[in-house]
Amino acid sequence: MKTRISDALKALCFCALFPMLSACQSGIKIEPVGVAPSPVKAAVAVPLKQDRVTKESVLHLRDQITQNQLATNALEEKLWAYQVRGFATLPQNDPKALRLAKIFADVHSKSHLWEMPLKPVLVDRDLFQAYTLGGLEIVFYTGLTDSLSDDGLAIIIGHEIAHIATSHAVEAISRDVVNLQHNHNDEAKLSGFYAVESEFEADMVGLLYAVLAGYNGAKAEEIWNTLADVRERPKFNLFTATHPPDEARGARLAKQAAAIAHLRASENWQSDLVCNPLYCADN
Ligand SMILES: [Zn+2]
Repeated sequence: MKTRISDALKALCFCALFPMLSACQSGIKIEPVGVAPSPVKAAVAVPLKQDRVTKESVLHLRDQITQNQLATNALEEKLWAYQVRGFATLPQNDPKALRLAKIFADVHSKSHLWEMPLKPVLVDRDLFQAYTLGGLEIVFYTGLTDSLSDDGLAIIIGHEIAHIATSHAVEAISRDVVNLQHNHNDEAKLSGFYAVESEFEADMVGLLYAVLAGYNGAKAEEIWNTLADVRERPKFNLFTATHPPDEARGARLAKQAAAIAHLRASENWQSDLVCNPLYCADN
């Protein structure tokens, strides 16, 4: 979540204007000697936005409405491609889709985005994967939903909602404009454009959502330890390849789950979202 604003500003204000200079790649700033500063340089405005979870200022080059529309369009193309390859999107009245929708609604209603019309999309595919492109939809594969208990699924749902709530996609894309490093079309690295730091943050915030919704956060360690056991199996490779090591995540989540166990189904969930034993944005 914490885009290093000073670094990003330096890179953006400089490299965006002089992309061909090798110094842009090395990070060394070169000031032209005897040349007046370009008026365009002074006119570059860098949009900063307050992060809705931590209240810190972060770099956002794309507004949320634009991001939602782009993500929806990109997802439509993906779903169409899945269909062509024989992986259907399950209808809303399918029992598996109904189960997902129920748990999704529970977790969503106790998240920072409870007023946003987020929705789950369930693709009938035997892979352990869930992802968001940063818009209003979150995609789940049946290979993931079928493998998890309700508690486990709630924690993964929370993780994905947290990616949107903390604007990781927008921040990642904002970083991309500066760095031009990531390939969003590579499905194997679908969530790889999220930094490891962002993954840990999504784990933490998502765990809180699931616990506030009444699910058992202690199951988080179980999920990640199970993944560690089965990571060699192709079905699980996709998710684990794009996320931090499972055992480390499991241990970290176990501690966090213990710290917020008393918040399970809390009536004060809205104030708990602002300040809780894991983070406090009230300072
Ligand atoms: Zn993630």
